[in-house]
Amino acid sequence: MAKFIFVTGGVISSLGKGITAASLGMLLKAWGLKVKLQKFDPYLNVDPGTMNPYQHGEVYVTDDGAETDLDLGHYERFTGEPTSRDSNYTAGQIYFSVISKERRGDYLGQTVQLVPHITDEIKSCVKKLDQPGVDAVISEIGGTVGDIESLPFLEAIRQMGLDEGRDNVLYVHVTLVPYIRAAGEIKTKPTQHSAGRLREIGIIPDVLICRTEKPLNDQIKAKISLFCNVEKKAVIEEPDVKQTIYEVPLMFVDQRLDRLIIERLRLKAGTLQLDPWLEILDAIRNPTSAVQVAVVGKYGELQDAYKSIYEAIDHGGIANRCRVEVKRILAEDVERVGAQSLLADAHGVLVPGGFGSRGLEGKIEAVRFAREENVPFLGLCLGLQCAAIEFARNVCGLAGANSTENDHHTPHPVVSLLEEQERVQQKGASMRLGAYPCIIRSGSRAQEAYRTDSVNERHRHRYEFNNRYRRLFESKGVVFSGLSPDESLVEMLEIPAHPWFVATQFHPEFKSYPTSPHPLFREFIRAALKRSRGG
Ligand code: GLN
Repeated sequence: MAKFIFVTGGVISSLGKGITAASLGMLLKAWGLKVKLQKFDPYLNVDPGTMNPYQHGEVYVTDDGAETDLDLGHYERFTGEPTSRDSNYTAGQIYFSVISKERRGDYLGQTVQLVPHITDEIKSCVKKLDQPGVDAVISEIGGTVGDIESLPFLEAIRQMGLDEGRDNVLYVHVTLVPYIRAAGEIKTKPTQHSAGRLREIGIIPDVLICRTEKPLNDQIKAKISLFCNVEKKAVIEEPDVKQTIYEVPLMFVDQRLDRLIIERLRLKAGTLQLDPWLEILDAIRNPTSAVQVAVVGKYGELQDAYKSIYEAIDHGGIANRCRVEVKRILAEDVERVGAQSLLADAHGVLVPGGFGSRGLEGKIEAVRFAREENVPFLGLCLGLQCAAIEFARNVCGLAGANSTENDHHTPHPVVSLLEEQERVQQKGASMRLGAYPCIIRSGSRAQEAYRTDSVNERHRHRYEFNNRYRRLFESKGVVFSGLSPDESLVEMLEIPAHPWFVATQFHPEFKSYPTSPHPLFREFIRAALKRSRGG
């Protein structure tokens, strides 16, 4: 039987609960324990797949094709363990499931209610991760304590303390301890209120993780301990990281939080193995070189929209022991002022995935610049589609070439819908989603990177390279270096005459971890490094 750790948040959102939960997972794993992580999101969308990145940030895709919250990306990157459909539930999914059961007659004769039906459903989702061999399940509750919509989730986890026995359940509350500049003081009141709100619901936190700008002294910790009814040694400080989020687990080790959790839950831990983690921190802190990479996207400064991509770029830096400075370029700015002025000093250009036509021409222009100027290029999903459009127009001479997503009447639809997608009406969960095998062509850059002939990568798209144009592209110098096993779908393309020009229909960024950087990001940064040295 697994132990259950619940991570809640208080005072404000964006405290980094996901990174905190992921760090706890990483530490328990480093102690030789098997952990599973999951996130509950209190909104009513069935999944974030239908939300816009301004609302939600990146949609993270799992191997089994679930469109999920970006915190699952942190869970995978910190623990190196794949997540799945069971790792993310929204209030929408919970209600959908209960209402479907009601219609089916599963509750015949009963009044279906928030308690116990919705709370039972939530508990059963937690229990799904209590699989053989799993020592601990870490469940993060999205939102902030005090939100109306979080209540059913908090009620469910309160009940679990009773159901499972208090020795088998641990409540971790992440809260804000602000520093008020005008007063020159650290304030504990918001944390007191937040812990109080939890107590009203019947949850007394076992651990308080205090997000702070300034260090907490002993006196402050004692005060928080007294007013929040939490042992002093369980009042943990989590200051803003200096360089990288990968420092967070070590902050916890310094305060013995890992040991406290193991003792409190009586987990059968081995010995702490931190070496791989210390190595990545060493590579981040002591780079031997630096490169500049431009990401030409639709969301410019919106950090969360391309979360996994920025992380994977950093991992590419770790693999090459180099500091990567990312320049976030708005594709629309490329349309306005041209690629030259914005991309001239980039050692690599990356065009990420996306939907719709805003900024598309700017992305295509960025591809042209990278191809013609021999700048290493990595195109992901829509990035591959842009590369195909650019090559069609400027190398194959197909004026007006486009994707049918952007132009229904293009004379040269080099990217188009598969027949099966043409019949799809519903928007939610109807794309080509999740991991599919891809056969790698021998002698290609792809094979040089992967060092294998077949890979499994995650997808999230509707449109595909149009096979009618394959032969023409090949005759003009493109190599289709990754294909589906039946060769019917283009998964990767590259230009061998270019120093490093690789594009993928899938999203390699979802499978890059700091402890094992993704091969394509590793090679992309290596190529950028070579360019920075004039190679
Ligand atoms: N909009 C494109 C498609 O649906 C690309 C999707 C993506 O980049 N994730 O095929």
